[in-house]
Amino acid sequence: MRPEQLLIPRREGLYCPPGDFFIDPVRGVDRALITHGHADHARAGHGHVLATAETLDIMAIRYGDDHAGATQGAGIGEQIRINDVTVEFLPAGHVLGSAQISVEKDGLRIVASGDYKPRPDPTCAAFEPVPCDVFITEATFALPVFRHPEATGEIARLLRSLARNPERAHLVGVYSLGKAQRVIRLIRDAGYQQPLYIHGALQKLCDYYESQGIALGELRPATVEASAKGEFAGAIVLGPPSAFADKWARRFPDPLISFASGWMQVRARARQRGVELPLVISDHADWDELAETINAVSPAEVWVTHGREEALVRWCQMQGIAARPLHLVGYEDEGD
Ligand SMILES: [Zn+2]
Ligand SMILES: [Zn+2]
Repeated sequence: MRPEQLLIPRREGLYCPPGDFFIDPVRGVDRALITHGHADHARAGHGHVLATAETLDIMAIRYGDDHAGATQGAGIGEQIRINDVTVEFLPAGHVLGSAQISVEKDGLRIVASGDYKPRPDPTCAAFEPVPCDVFITEATFALPVFRHPEATGEIARLLRSLARNPERAHLVGVYSLGKAQRVIRLIRDAGYQQPLYIHGALQKLCDYYESQGIALGELRPATVEASAKGEFAGAIVLGPPSAFADKWARRFPDPLISFASGWMQVRARARQRGVELPLVISDHADWDELAETINAVSPAEVWVTHGREEALVRWCQMQGIAARPLHLVGYEDEGD
């Protein structure tokens, strides 16, 4: 069996003909296997969804309990048979519940990694390199210019800015799933124990992380109406980046706009968004980590999707590893 007979790109997403299922389809299908809860991977409207228990919970929080006809939880490392195919979910280190999906038939194994990062994250299980014949990798930050600094150092910069500007509310842009909870946990690990203020859009997922044993400390709603404006002087307020463009953000005292994203390494992007304090904190592998992961997995072939595909394909070929872009469409990560 050739790899292309086991998994093939279709308009709906990556399709497995012998298993008759899709991985992270971008539109409603009969049977979907979902790597993680970010909106471009996990959509509502499938007939049947197989995902980790956490990803199913996150989908229910975001889309309601009736987001799919039926759901099935996949334990990490549990082998599940679908028609003639064996699938297995393995940790991806991207956000809570995120998984790589191994698809195996007749001794041929393809691992679709979804989004992943190999560096430690206190809010989710650590990424595991899995030996396979074909490794499907993301390429969000697949250019040699992307080298993410240590997240702890970025949080230290935030806390230094707070100490230097005690009158200013520090508004930190964070995507609601994964980035928000990781940044909060890192702030706590840096020793900051004051209440943190969160935009309403973050509440449910922060509550969910707490329920899964990830302590986030005291979180208060960031509603200016409900409290004195002065309360926010020198406070850290976290919200989705989209909220910073509207009136909500302008109510805080002399707001200092920050944004935690891998894209903050690109100065022009930070300037465009009016970000005064860019924090380079990413939930994706950077260039070095993509290369290290491919070397660790040591696959016969690499398929590249989701971002700067050409650069990573060329790098693989220079290492003597067969590689090709998948050209899947519809993935715009909300959690970079
Ligand atoms: Zn993602
Ligand atoms: Zn993604």
